[in-house]
Amino acid sequence: MSDRGCSHLDDVTSVKQPEVRECAECVKTGAQWVHLRTCQQCGATLCCDSSPNQHATKHAHASGHPVIASAQPGERWLYCYSDGTLCQY
Ligand SMILES: [Zn+2]
Ligand SMILES: [Zn+2]
Ligand SMILES: [Zn+2]
Repeated sequence: MSDRGCSHLDDVTSVKQPEVRECAECVKTGAQWVHLRTCQQCGATLCCDSSPNQHATKHAHASGHPVIASAQPGERWLYCYSDGTLCQY
């Protein structure tokens, strides 16, 4: 795959799926989340930008892991924070 628009998305050969459908950080504090995203580098499943705590975005910036996949059933897309690129898979 070389048409995804950024090298980070090109590096994803098989998309990591969430092990559990919950935000690992929100469950610690009892916070609510809206949608879930799975980090494609370490597999962490965290909450989206519509959620109050935006853990997936915080994780991407803190860890330098730029690529997430939607962890929502039926959604098949990847997003690179570094380049702002989105692709379906
Ligand atoms: Zn990228
Ligand atoms: Zn969260
Ligand atoms: Zn990560």
